[in-house]
Amino acid sequence: MLKKLINECTVDMKLHTVDPILIKSGLATVSGPNMAFVETYRNGRREPYLPGSSLKGVIRSHAERIARTLKSPSACEPFFNEDVKEALKQESQRAQTLWCGEKLRIREKRLEQITNQVAYKDSCPACRLFGSTYYVGRFAVSDAYLIPGSHAYKQRRDGVGIDRYTGGASNRAKFDLEVLTDATFQCTIKIRNFEVWQLGWLAYVIQDFKDELIHVGSGKSRGLGRVRGEVQKVIVSYVVADGSALRHDGGRARLRGIGSLAREDGYGFAADDEVLLPEGFSFERPQGKLRSECLFDNGRDTELWLETADKWDAFIAGYDIPREMAHTKFLDLVQEANGDE
Ligand SMILES: [Zn+2]
Repeated sequence: MLKKLINECTVDMKLHTVDPILIKSGLATVSGPNMAFVETYRNGRREPYLPGSSLKGVIRSHAERIARTLKSPSACEPFFNEDVKEALKQESQRAQTLWCGEKLRIREKRLEQITNQVAYKDSCPACRLFGSTYYVGRFAVSDAYLIPGSHAYKQRRDGVGIDRYTGGASNRAKFDLEVLTDATFQCTIKIRNFEVWQLGWLAYVIQDFKDELIHVGSGKSRGLGRVRGEVQKVIVSYVVADGSALRHDGGRARLRGIGSLAREDGYGFAADDEVLLPEGFSFERPQGKLRSECLFDNGRDTELWLETADKWDAFIAGYDIPREMAHTKFLDLVQEANGDE
């Protein structure tokens, strides 16, 4: 079923730099700055860009933070940082099994068959949307490239290494930083085969992008990396033969999640997985196109987010993480480590 596309939400968004941003390239150069942007050749010149993989990481961890704020614990922790790993080693090996991919791997070792249905149903909300080692996820974000006409000034700065434990200057490090200011990037987010609560979750993330609460790149503790998101347009589309399935008797458009459209059981999709859109929105099938789509542009994406956010609120309020993943000692360690950042 999930090999088939049923519905899709596409968000085109601009990201404007608020603070200078710094993206590590991971490449040490002998003469140049120790930390440099990821660059690519585009339109015949070298240009910095934000890799989709790192944007996805930023969005996932922000979404998890939102989930934990509303309901804790509610998402597993696949990405241990070094402090947590070290603490876990001393604490117990058991704690290392407390994330979705690892949990499923152990069940498979015990000869249980892990189908797509099981992998989805028995994963936390974050792994269902963003994926895990067992599940590819529904969420994708493109690389973000500079829009034409964006100034994107590069500057070099002296940086001082900050000791992670004391917060003071580290005696070792003094290095050059290369930062970018006055840049505007463009990226596209896609969620395929969504449940409506997943759009509602994205709604919170998008709002925080608009409110300049999200940082990209490294150097957050140096006051770098804040961006402002600006949604250009959102398109929600369906591959359905009969467009009347997307209209309510009363005439309003039905925004239907996969739980409302898919026939297959076993995924644990939300019941009542749909909302009605306000008057003025409808799903149309452009001539020659396979899909019926609804366009939210000129700031009207707000209406979509308002309608879907309630579904997320209800979902997360009713969600209970499997007991073995809610190891309190473990969560304390994670929170401690994240709080230091
Ligand atoms: Zn998970």
